[in-house]
Amino acid sequence: MTDSKHSHPHCAVQNCKMSVFNKIPGTSFHPFPTTNEMRNKWLNILKSRCSSIDWARSRICSRHFENRYFDIVDSRRKLRDNALPSLFPASASSTQRVVRSLKPVESTPPRTKIDRLLNRMTQTQLLDDVKSTMRLIKVPDNFSDYVNDDLHCNPDTPVEAQLWLLIKKQDHLITRLMQLVLQNKKHVEVLQKNMEESRNEKKEMEQSLENYKYIAKCLQEKHATLEEQIEILTAVESR
Ligand SMILES: [Zn+2]
Repeated sequence: MTDSKHSHPHCAVQNCKMSVFNKIPGTSFHPFPTTNEMRNKWLNILKSRCSSIDWARSRICSRHFENRYFDIVDSRRKLRDNALPSLFPASASSTQRVVRSLKPVESTPPRTKIDRLLNRMTQTQLLDDVKSTMRLIKVPDNFSDYVNDDLHCNPDTPVEAQLWLLIKKQDHLITRLMQLVLQNKKHVEVLQKNMEESRNEKKEMEQSLENYKYIAKCLQEKHATLEEQIEILTAVESR
């Protein structure tokens, strides 16, 4: 890679510190791509890693590219047109990040031995168990005769039938709750899908906004340099 006279002598990646003056043998410096598509791709990767980018003069050193992106042409390493910088030594802050463990969920302490045993079972296990037990229990004879129209038992109903009515009510309740759970699950799925779609759109918008901001910042810096040069020239001229 031949560096043009006006190119920056150092790698634009922050914390890299590689320059033509102190480079490790074999390191080459590469200009930014010329197509808008590739420039945007580089920009997305580099904007958080370079303090400033000048399309014409900034250089990225070969240490940031995987080997597969290089071709040997006339015994020189040539960067491929589709190359993307991807190798950046980790900064201290990212490697020292502390991962906090989540607090375990506090459940109410089981009161009896049965509670304790029930807590050990999964929902599916419990449901299956209840279903299979229900199949074994015999419905009391003339069960419906004991139950009146407001779903209560007549005064002379045997305990067995009273309990059976309670089981039927609970079973019905469980079925309704399960239906609600399924419905909610479907709603949540739709909501999540919508959220994901709008999140993706937002992300894209933010990404291009970030790019524009970054370009504006670079242009402002360039503008400031030009103004300085004009000032110097004007001062020289007016002498
Ligand atoms: Zn570098």
